[in-house]
Amino acid sequence: MYEVDSKPGRIIRIAGPAVEAMDLEDIRLFDVVWVGQWGLVGEVIRLAKNVATIQVYENTSGLCVGDIVQNTRLPLAVRLGPGLLGRVYDGLQRPLDKMAEMGWDFIKRGLTASPLSNDILWDFTPRVKQDQLVSPGEVLGVVPETSIIEHRILVPPDTSGRVVEVKSGRFKITDTVLTLELRNRDYKKITLAQEWPVRKPRPIGKNLDPCEPLITGTRVIDIFFPIAKGGTAIIPGGFGTGKTVIEHTLARWADVDIVIYVGCGERGNEMAEVIGEFPTLEDPRTGESLMKRTILIANTSNMPVAAREASIYTGITIAEYYRDMGYDVLLVADSTSRWGEALREISGRLEEIPGEEGYPAYLGARLSAFYERSGRVIPLGEPIVNHNSNQVSSSSVTLVGAVSPPGADFSEPMTQSSMRVAGTFWGLDYDLSRRRHFPAINWNQSYSLYDFQSWYNKYVAQDWSELTREAMVLLHREDELLKIVQLVGWDALSEVERGILSTARMLREDLLQQSAYDPVDRYCPLDKAYGMLKALVTFHHLAQAALQRGASLNRINNLPVVLEIARMKNLCGDNVLEKLLSIVDQIKSNFKELEAEC
Ligand code: ADP
Ligand code: MG
Repeated sequence: MYEVDSKPGRIIRIAGPAVEAMDLEDIRLFDVVWVGQWGLVGEVIRLAKNVATIQVYENTSGLCVGDIVQNTRLPLAVRLGPGLLGRVYDGLQRPLDKMAEMGWDFIKRGLTASPLSNDILWDFTPRVKQDQLVSPGEVLGVVPETSIIEHRILVPPDTSGRVVEVKSGRFKITDTVLTLELRNRDYKKITLAQEWPVRKPRPIGKNLDPCEPLITGTRVIDIFFPIAKGGTAIIPGGFGTGKTVIEHTLARWADVDIVIYVGCGERGNEMAEVIGEFPTLEDPRTGESLMKRTILIANTSNMPVAAREASIYTGITIAEYYRDMGYDVLLVADSTSRWGEALREISGRLEEIPGEEGYPAYLGARLSAFYERSGRVIPLGEPIVNHNSNQVSSSSVTLVGAVSPPGADFSEPMTQSSMRVAGTFWGLDYDLSRRRHFPAINWNQSYSLYDFQSWYNKYVAQDWSELTREAMVLLHREDELLKIVQLVGWDALSEVERGILSTARMLREDLLQQSAYDPVDRYCPLDKAYGMLKALVTFHHLAQAALQRGASLNRINNLPVVLEIARMKNLCGDNVLEKLLSIVDQIKSNFKELEAEC
């Protein structure tokens, strides 16, 4: 995609991934350059007089002062088109899956390989006719990219004109499928593939407020700390607290059309697990393989540090591309801290004035520029009106980033800067994870700035917000009481207060704990979450009333329905809500019998 014709420059200084070169012709900030005899990919990140500072995305060992540097005159870009889904790329969009097939365990330096296959013939069905006037973002035609995702070929953002020729049939991504006559009488050939610079957000029609939660199938998230479709969330947590497992769970079960998983600077075996496992997993929405709607971008800890930044930008640009087609996209990044560390390393090499803990002063600005690329939008082009609801259909990019604070200290700069821009905060707790309470989301620290209570009341159940509020109050009461126990011992508690501790334990164990490895419980639909919540809150009310009447806590804990409540997680099938509501009835009848005994 890059061509070089200008006079090369020369390297004058090398400091790890930061290289300085002189005499580069017509060089501009953020141009991509090829460095040294291997043609390592680099990006110009600073310009001063005749010297360009280059961030090199590959290992620079062996480079010499005096080696040549060539300017491609193009910004770092990704190739977009049918064939992205199901692929595994590195941060520079080199196809790792293809390279593995060719028998390379590690990518050779300076290697370029086409991100999209040039051999596949795609079925293109036009959606426009000859002589039709078209404007940016309009659908020109469609390609069945996988059995579940229709790839829409759109008019590029800066283009409008008249269709002068349109073909239909089977084409390679580089074949011309359509020709447009532009306003200035020039002709523009449209192929199935295109390029887009990664640092430039793709334009949209209109920004919308988030209006519905992204259903994840993880109860503690959906019930207490929901994330918006088109919103942002961060998952800070110490080592082993479950960040990666939550990101995997979201990538599998979250209610979106497309998932982009960016493995940034984490261990290679975690990425290998995703690559091995995802194709075998069934998508709960379609029953097909998950890989048919997933793209993996791997930049593991053994790969060059600077490319972590490229992997984040490559991921978000691909996410925006599918958003523009009208899809809901989720991008999960594990871990954004490794990107922050890369920024710190490069900034140090450039001898910039360091900010807090050595991070560059622009850390916050970089992070917010990334998270701001999320959102619920009306894409460019004619808005599609859904005739059933009479609403304009929107699409979205949701961003979830794991943060790995050293020593699980949430006051460090990466966590603090991410917190400022994220709408949901799922703080993972070392104590909970040590007690094997997973997901280890700490309910006292976590929050969601999105308010979806009325959405849940409308679409799930009228008493949803009431139940979640009462459950949260119960958890907070438990905390207060445990503090009293620590100070003065169990004897200080009344029977009613002990009842609170006992029901709170049930709420934690039977509702909040959810194993990502249990074949049934790993995904919890909303109606099941509601039924479980209702059962526990009903139990709480009746237990408190019975205790106040003088019933024994021991007797309450031994009611037959307590066992049923503990087994709620394993319920599945179409009528799961019915089964749960019958448990609610059983709770009521158990307590009636208890009252009769007294
Ligand atoms: P991190 O990425 O924060 O270092 P991981 O996500 O790798 O931590 O989790 C560490 C371990 O914790 C996992 O290997 C798993 O055994 C356990 N774990 C984390 N989350 C869950 C979960 N939701 N269900 C069951 N086990 C979990
Ligand atoms: Mg991890």
